[in-house]
Amino acid sequence: MKPGICGFLPIPDLLKAKSVLCIQPHSDDMEIGAGATIAHMTGLGSSVKCLTVTDGSAGTCNLSANIEQLKATRRSETERSAEILGVKELLWFDYADGGNLPYESIRAEITRTIRRLRPSAVLVCDPWLPYEAHSDHNRTGLAAAEASLLAGMPKFCPADSEEGIMPHKVDMVAFYYTAYPNTFVDVTVTWKLKLEAIDCHASQFSGKKGEKLKQYLTARAREQAAGRGCDLVEALKVLSVGHLHIFEEAWQC
Ligand SMILES: [Zn+2]
Repeated sequence: MKPGICGFLPIPDLLKAKSVLCIQPHSDDMEIGAGATIAHMTGLGSSVKCLTVTDGSAGTCNLSANIEQLKATRRSETERSAEILGVKELLWFDYADGGNLPYESIRAEITRTIRRLRPSAVLVCDPWLPYEAHSDHNRTGLAAAEASLLAGMPKFCPADSEEGIMPHKVDMVAFYYTAYPNTFVDVTVTWKLKLEAIDCHASQFSGKKGEKLKQYLTARAREQAAGRGCDLVEALKVLSVGHLHIFEEAWQC
């Protein structure tokens, strides 16, 4: 940490965000990455909407799976889970799942979504997670970070303003699945809701696989809570949009 240099740009307080746009590459990422924080924030009165970028069609190990059925199942699993977490609205881009996301298109569509919904915070997977090999995650995270940085500038994706969708500056971006956390949300009370929300995704995690995932997440949340005066935390990286361009210490702040 470099508190002196990092002090030039304060880290925003995620829990003060009244409206949050959560962006996930796949159905189930918001629950695993930040489900308990989302439940905590909706409980405090924040409005959380969730955008899923892909259609979930690659989420199977079964060669003969019915893909249309899988897509429908994953959507209904997300609807049930969103209800548990208090997510107000679900949005879907329906890009084909599986590593071929067109970066510029999703960046433009996320920019437009930010301008339309005007959230104070964007919550998305961290594209700078070392060893993350799934490009749906890397592209979604980077597109959302870049869209958050530039959505306030009218000359970026100018067609939006011509259609009356005006620029909007978000106050902060919060990254889940991060290796550089700076915000530890006490989620002791809402942890149960996160696990229930994960259970909704039976097409992805059932039986031993689901139990192992929940055990891992709980052990990590307990370990990250040590010394913080609570039992369970979710660890996030929260930055202002000012941190997201030529601020060399951002990863340390
Ligand atoms: Zn994913």
